[in-house]
Amino acid sequence: MRKEKEHMKIVIVGHVDHGKSTLIGRLFYDTDSIQEEKIAEVREACKTLGKEMEFAYLMDHLQEEREQGVTIDTTQTFFKTDKRHYVIIDAPGHKEFIKNMITGASQAEAAILIVDADEGVQEQTKRHAYILGMLGLKQVIAVLNKMDLREFDKERFEEVKAELLKFLSSISIVPSHVIPISAKLGENVAKKSGKMKWYSGPTILSALDSFSVKESSPDKPLRFPVQGVFKVENKRILMGRVESGTVSEGDEITFLPSGKTAKVKSVEEFMEERHSASAGESTGITIDQPYFIERGEVAFSGRKPAVAQEFSASVFWMSPRAFALGERLAFRCATQEAGCEVKKIERKINSSTLETIGENASELKENEVGEIVLRTDKPVVLENFSEIPELGRFVLVRGENVSAGGTVSGLERLDSKRQ
Ligand code: GDP
Repeated sequence: MRKEKEHMKIVIVGHVDHGKSTLIGRLFYDTDSIQEEKIAEVREACKTLGKEMEFAYLMDHLQEEREQGVTIDTTQTFFKTDKRHYVIIDAPGHKEFIKNMITGASQAEAAILIVDADEGVQEQTKRHAYILGMLGLKQVIAVLNKMDLREFDKERFEEVKAELLKFLSSISIVPSHVIPISAKLGENVAKKSGKMKWYSGPTILSALDSFSVKESSPDKPLRFPVQGVFKVENKRILMGRVESGTVSEGDEITFLPSGKTAKVKSVEEFMEERHSASAGESTGITIDQPYFIERGEVAFSGRKPAVAQEFSASVFWMSPRAFALGERLAFRCATQEAGCEVKKIERKINSSTLETIGENASELKENEVGEIVLRTDKPVVLENFSEIPELGRFVLVRGENVSAGGTVSGLERLDSKRQ
């Protein structure tokens, strides 16, 4: 399946009640991305309840319909600018937000971090920002919302902005813009505000439009984790998603951890011959050798990835049930799965205050980040998250529950030896 390039996936994060739903409603409304009758329905419902119509209700209403399967109208899941379509991949108030972000289920290309200018930076502001940083999200806009509650005061804006930037710089996030807005009134969302003439930067929409869609990484070395093997007629097709690089007919590739090398005989998609497939595409390949290749092996060409059984990582523990050293977990990275053990929790930090709260710790609690040493039961194929994130991101599963997400770092670069 080809990736549609004209869509950009964004997440809107921030503390509860700081205005995520309202902003989404406003973005949809101002870009004419919402059906008039839906707006009328909610306006009517609000009137019956004697309430003022709120964009937040509109979004909740659409969300409910979507959950009940009433609306499967795709025009409601994205909004448009002249430049492109934006898909909001995390619904506000979504309980699974942290999980989706960390497991990579939501791979956003840009984020809007929203802060109530009246209340200032709060705990979840920091926690969500921390996760954006951990995931290496570089395209971030910070918006200071509810400026109307502070009479659109520049001083207040500067005050909260300074506090926010101080925190963000400690986690290496540099927002491209910090924008004073009122989501409720639509100031600086799609239209420049006449009430904040002191602000000369872009609106949210033009700031978003200045971002680039995620570069797929066809120029990086090939990483093709095998998802499954299917026998069709006399062919054994290795199915999977190209996570980085390009695979073409005739290429010599090596499977890890097994180390078997073969030539690519064909690249196919739904029985259709293709000649190559690139990062982001799901495809099937056949090879010129009768090897037994299983799910979990990773085909590569170019620089060799690391094959390791013990490595350092940062993990964000998100399960309400704490983790105690010695517990068995399952490790999953791309299509690889292995039993694992945490050998050490070298340091742990509070993901909101960033304080170190323990060294050589014996447990990790919800929302704590641990710098750990992990040992898997069998060798796994890895990359540093900063280099090829698709093979540098993993989850830890306890029983049936995804309990932590993590990123791999500090793998030695043994390029010369690996070649
Ligand atoms: P969420 O929990 O982050 O999704 O926040 P909501 O969008 O539900 O907003 C929480 C409350 O703040 C609602 O009552 C909104 O009407 C209100 N709100 C949101 N944006 C603004 C704004 O720009 N100005 C004012 N005065 N209130 C706002």
